[in-house]
Amino acid sequence: MSTLNVGPVLDGKEQHEAGGGLHQVVNPATGAVIAREACCNSYSIGRIVESSMNAFESPAWRNMAAAGRGNLLLKLADLVEENAGELIRLELLDTGKPATQLKDGEIPLTASIIRFYAGAADKIEGRVKSTTEGGFHLTMYEPYGVVAGILPWNYPLVNAALKVAPAVAAGNAIILKPSVETPLSCVAFARLCREAGFPPGIVNVVLGSGSSAGAALVEHPGVKKISFTGSTGAGQVIQKQAVEQMKTVNLELGGKNAILVFADADLDRAADAAIFSGFVNAGQLCVSCSRLLVEETVAERFESILLEKMKKVIVGKPEAPDTLIGPMITRSQYEIALRYLAEAPGEGCRVLCGGGKLDLPAPHDKGFWLEPTLLSGVKRGMKVAVEEIFGPVLSIMTFKDEAEAVELSNMVIYGLSGSLWTGDGERALRVVNALDTGLIWVNCMFIGYPQIPLPPHKMSGTGVELGFEGLLAYCKRKSTVLGYDRGAPVGWNLK
Ligand code: NAD
Repeated sequence: MSTLNVGPVLDGKEQHEAGGGLHQVVNPATGAVIAREACCNSYSIGRIVESSMNAFESPAWRNMAAAGRGNLLLKLADLVEENAGELIRLELLDTGKPATQLKDGEIPLTASIIRFYAGAADKIEGRVKSTTEGGFHLTMYEPYGVVAGILPWNYPLVNAALKVAPAVAAGNAIILKPSVETPLSCVAFARLCREAGFPPGIVNVVLGSGSSAGAALVEHPGVKKISFTGSTGAGQVIQKQAVEQMKTVNLELGGKNAILVFADADLDRAADAAIFSGFVNAGQLCVSCSRLLVEETVAERFESILLEKMKKVIVGKPEAPDTLIGPMITRSQYEIALRYLAEAPGEGCRVLCGGGKLDLPAPHDKGFWLEPTLLSGVKRGMKVAVEEIFGPVLSIMTFKDEAEAVELSNMVIYGLSGSLWTGDGERALRVVNALDTGLIWVNCMFIGYPQIPLPPHKMSGTGVELGFEGLLAYCKRKSTVLGYDRGAPVGWNLK
């Protein structure tokens, strides 16, 4: 296969030279170079921000009714579906995700996120209060201007839609910055935005590494709001930078989420949910429950149900229709996960299944393949109990009662998501009330997208993404008082 060329997007047009050198993009399933990526230097980032500022101020955008922006998004969702074949091809090459996961999961999710915000664009309502003496008080929502949408590599296309759709529905211009490892679908998505009729410059793309291109974008004074999804460490750096310029940030960061399984749960369904949550996308999912907390009286039985089901989890060639798990997406993440697996037995836990590299025949012998791994007997002090691995590794711990289940779930620094399984409705309510995490699924898993908001707790971030609240995150507030009483005091009486 010939090597692709990919470049940043300025005024809706892809550039082939951006001053920041070339990065080689690798197919994680084979380790082969698939694309040359033209990275941005600060000069080209400046030009891209200028283009976005001009587009935001242009009458074509500023005078467009909210319903008009919604209609463009509807057209974009149709284009995503019409171009699904090409988007799947690029995403599969760039991430090694199974084709069925892309076709049946990520493409429909991308389209539904866009349609949700298309419908919401003209439903942003301010408030009017008559409590002010001699006037009405209006609270209005306005776009920020130019927003930076900084993306991780785990769901490049879905995350691009998750930034672009609410940002433009609210009337902003947006500059996407995908991970340097996974630029292909993001640039293709920006092309579709142009085809859908968004004015040139409303959706631009910066390419390059986080420490250079990402940092330059965050620092640029023309960028008024930052919506970041990625690691907690990078989120902290960005928040500090943003504080200097009083920029608003939305941070969706790491997680070490728990699935809690009580003895009275439907164990068979809970096992399916635990496996899906822990291993879909090779565990590279922020809301994945990578900790499995099981009531000790059923732990042995639950582990044997899991082991039986794990035999049906097929890891392999991304193109094959029965493949459920592909490779790790980046070499560095693969190496990080391997280190955790190498150290885990020394910490005192037991490898129930998996535990290391997966050897596949050529051409996949140089890919980033890991065996899906169940670790049993994990205890509080161990790294695999508290640190985010972001790979196909599920750490199993046991609890003796409800209080300990809650305590174990809350003991990590993160608070992104969680899931609990029980047949006792009152217990479910008590536990939901006690968990310090932003999104909880009770007797279900991963449903509710894109309508349900994801407001991270603790070190998992600040702000909110998804749902209607996720749209308001792209709006700044403005208060206006309309005076109607000519006799109302205006300060000193100077007559
Ligand atoms: P990362 O933090 O390394 O990079 C994310 C993005 O930020 C990339 O585009 C990167 O180039 C950029 N970046 C890095 N440093 C930057 C800086 N100083 N200034 C500006 N941009 C910078 O994360 P990753 O390895 O790509 O993704 C994995 C992480 O993302 C995991 O921790 C995972 O939990 C998290 N994640 C969170 C969510 C969520 O919604 N909470 C969703 C997906 C992934």
